[in-house]
Formats: sequence, C-alpha cells, structure tokens
Amino acid sequence: MFGTIDGTGYEILDPVFEDCIIGHAKIERLWSGGRWVEGPAYFPAGRYLIWSDIPNNRMMRWDETDGSVSVFRDPSNNSNGHTVDQQGRLISCEHLSRRVIRTEFDGTLKVIADRYRGDRLNSPNDVVVKSDGSVWFTDPSYGIIMDYEGARAESEIGACNVYRWDPESQEIESMATDYVKPNGLAFSPDETALFITDTGGTHEADGPRHMRRHSIGADGKTLGAGEVFATSTAGFFDGFRIDTGNRIWTSAMDGIHCYDSAGTLVGKILIPEIVSNVCFGGLRGNRLFITATTSLYAIYLNVNGSRLL
Ligand code: MG
Repeated sequence: MFGTIDGTGYEILDPVFEDCIIGHAKIERLWSGGRWVEGPAYFPAGRYLIWSDIPNNRMMRWDETDGSVSVFRDPSNNSNGHTVDQQGRLISCEHLSRRVIRTEFDGTLKVIADRYRGDRLNSPNDVVVKSDGSVWFTDPSYGIIMDYEGARAESEIGACNVYRWDPESQEIESMATDYVKPNGLAFSPDETALFITDTGGTHEADGPRHMRRHSIGADGKTLGAGEVFATSTAGFFDGFRIDTGNRIWTSAMDGIHCYDSAGTLVGKILIPEIVSNVCFGGLRGNRLFITATTSLYAIYLNVNGSRLL
C-alpha cells in the first residue's frame, strides 16, 4: 500500500558516507496515518517495532513477519520515547501520566519514576538503558505546555532535567540541570559518553538546537559538563541512535543527519516529513526505522546499530 517513496534520497557531504549506505537501497514508507509519531523501539525476539502516535494517544505495532500494523496500546497516556531493556522489556515515557514505566513479562505496568524529590516529573520524553540496568531519561516540558501531546499544567520541579534511575535503590537522581529542553539521548557503544540533544529553540528564539557530549565518570553514574558536539543545520535534533562505528544518526527537519565521531556532518538521508526519532532494528541491526511526523519509514544501511534494542 505504501511502498517505495520517490523523491527521497541521500546527500553525500563527505566521501566516507558512501560506505555507510547502500546506494540502490530505497527508503520505504511502512505506514502512515499518525499525527506526530515518535519513539521507535525494535524487539528482536518478536520481530516487531513499537512506536508512539502522541496526539492520538496510542501506541502502534509493526510486524516484521508480514508488514501488518495494529494498535498496540490505546490509550497510551500520550506516550513518547521507548526503549527495550536487556531483559527484552519495553520501557516507555508517558506525557499525560508524567512518568516512566516498564511493561513487565505478564503485561502489567510498573512505574519506574514519576516524581523527583516529591515533585511530579514534567513529561518524560526519551529513555535509554545502560548495561548496568540503570535507566536514563530526559524530562522537558512538552507534555505540560499545551493540551495537544498531554495536559497543560505547571511544572512542579521548575526545571527540565536529565535523570538516572538506579536499579538498586529504585530512586532517581538528577544528572544534568543546565538544559532548556533535554530531548533524545544515547550512549556511545563503549558507554564512556552520553549524548543528549537540547531542543530549547522550539520555544525560545535563540534557544539551543544542538547535541552535547558528556563523558561518563569511572563510577558509571556521573556526567561530565557536556560540551556541544554538533549544532543542527536544519530544524532540531530530537531522537537519535549511534552505530558501531560511533557515527550518530539523528533526526532533523529534512531527514536524518549522520555525524562522524568528530562531530562532522558527513551525509543525510532525505525524508519528506520532519523526522522525530530513529532506531536500528532487523535481526542484524542494519535497518534504520524512522518516525517522521505522520509516518513510519525504514532504510537498510551498510552500518549496524550499536545496540539492537
Ligand atoms: Mg523526543
């Protein structure tokens, strides 16, 4: 029904990008019909992909075995970002309920975090799990500044922070407090660095539209100051993932931008809708799934995701 999309393509800004793509591989639109889709997460064990349709208050599921799409969870509490932990469980950010949850093996939902020092979180946006089982997530205010992707409310915390949930204490601690709107996040493959985007420019004229790189302390629980790694040349960096060659594949207004480990923009995959997020999937981790405004896209690449999950 949706098939291959003409008018998409690649923009090669540095010859190294040619080795990252398969020149004749086409960008496919796997589904369309959302309002603002986000948060793709691929499950190797079941060969399916979950993502959010935030304003429609539902989560969708694409089945890799037959290409079918169905509603996975409705209502979804305006869920946004998702990831899969090392046990294969779905972890989700929810705007409306202002929490991070985990879907257990029996299908019940466990609240990972909904408050910080007694105050309600704003609206968790995106989440990633470290190999030690800790859960790191961003908490900008997009879900409480209007009624479209959540419900309008005051921020109880009064700041948009990045948090770490500790699997031992089951408590969260603030890891970064100097973001305007912290958004997507991902660890480097060796987990020595955490990259975080700041989309503060969406609501402040001169606000940030960049990605920062934080070193991670030897204890694995602390972040360095976080220098700017790259600044978007088209719209904002929202969600992103990193491949095994330490290249960053990030969302942007005109598609996906690929940065090498030094922060040089080496190429783009052009998509005809604003991209919100990506994730690697397929059984070899070489297929990039792309959530973009109303649609889900996919493209096979000549690179592999650093984490299949
Ligand atoms: Mg996001």
